[in-house]
Amino acid sequence: SRRFNIVIAGGGAAGLSTAASILKRRPDVSVAIIEPSTSHYYQPGWTLVGGGVFTPEQTRRSEDRLIPSGAIWIRQSVAAFHPDAREVLLDDGKVLSYDILIVATGLSLDWAGIAGLTETLGRNGVTSNYRYDLAPYTWQLVQGLSRGTALFTQPPMPIKCAGAPQKAMYLSCDAWRRRGVLKDISVQFDTTTPALFGVAAYVPALMNYIERYGIDLRLRSKLIAVDGPQRVATFEHVTDNGTTQVQRSFDMLHVVPPQVAPDVVKNSPLAGADGFVSVDPATLRHTTFADVFALGDVAGTSNAKTAAAARKQAPVVAVNALAALDGKAPVAIYDGYGACPLTVERGRIVLAEFAYGGKLEPTLPLWLLRGTQPTRLAWFLKEKVMPSLYWHGMLRGHELLASPRKAPGA
Ligand code: FAD
Repeated sequence: SRRFNIVIAGGGAAGLSTAASILKRRPDVSVAIIEPSTSHYYQPGWTLVGGGVFTPEQTRRSEDRLIPSGAIWIRQSVAAFHPDAREVLLDDGKVLSYDILIVATGLSLDWAGIAGLTETLGRNGVTSNYRYDLAPYTWQLVQGLSRGTALFTQPPMPIKCAGAPQKAMYLSCDAWRRRGVLKDISVQFDTTTPALFGVAAYVPALMNYIERYGIDLRLRSKLIAVDGPQRVATFEHVTDNGTTQVQRSFDMLHVVPPQVAPDVVKNSPLAGADGFVSVDPATLRHTTFADVFALGDVAGTSNAKTAAAARKQAPVVAVNALAALDGKAPVAIYDGYGACPLTVERGRIVLAEFAYGGKLEPTLPLWLLRGTQPTRLAWFLKEKVMPSLYWHGMLRGHELLASPRKAPGA
């Protein structure tokens, strides 16, 4: 087997940033990144693809240009984790061994978790911004619709970017409002959650838009089946008196799939009870294997699963992984920061930024962001600033606004 100081499973937002941050700090360690895909996607941009603002191509880069120099790219998938032996098994049957393992495989989208969905995705008015190839179809449907019913759905938590199901809806409504057809479209939002957004401080601003667009909000309502050709969606609605099933017809249906830990993680000794990697929420070190760390969507932490969270986690894991390589205790801590730019209309965003426990944590002064209200500045950041910050800052290991905090006593 080949041996590396540090093996990183997954070369997505979290894996690439961590590799770059490690090599910036210590160019002499050997780092391997295991990543099967030849393309990397800026997924936060898919909301704007679905809103007709970005082209899909703007959200894609080839992986080989993003692997930091000094890191070895292994173009495989991890087939199994064997942390007792400090080894990972690859799809091609080869084995890599490591001193330190960093798990950053992201999460799995469980399209099959909704009956009938897979067969009809991309047809019959059924779309999702959660896939690169489908986000353009969202915008195509929005442009084509002038009357009828549009359904938007949100599965149980955890999901990546918990605001994205709503973002798709608000941008669609805004496009219909501008065309003067919104009054002829019945818009319904079915979310399995008990509240519109997990952090209460942002709910009033969002409720304003629900009312303004005339959206029919249905809490605790779960999409369980789709009949594409008949254009009928089945929901399970939880009430005090039990569970009822309702069917509703649609002209357009924007689905966000249930999201789970990848099988390779769930079926490994690294998984906690929820299937995600069991790590300390502050140091991101595994709760039983001291030479394993995890970050990004696959980490079993309670932060909002976002690229913004990965941006803050990457230097923490880089510092702590290098300390572990030296046989030392973790020195940096992560406070649970995550961010969700809620695109409430074209040109305005409610920028939700918060840490563990829903504690508000704005990067810019609150007077600039008007507290929890929508601003043009936040839209400007999302459309013009964040993509460059992502490609040229975060993925290259620059710690823009992300310097890790020291652990107490470190
Ligand atoms: P990913 O970026 O998904 O990368 C995981 C990588 O691991 C992939 O490259 C995959 O190929 C690889 N992999 C998978 N399995 C294996 C395996 N077995 N072996 C090796 N490699 C493997 N975040 C924000 O901050 N702001 C937003 O506005 C925002 N909006 C979003 C809108 C949408 C529609 C979506 C879908 C996401 C959005 N996000 C947003 C969330 C953000 O994209 C994710 O949180 C982020 O990409 C997580 O990074 P990650 O590296 O953990 O996972």
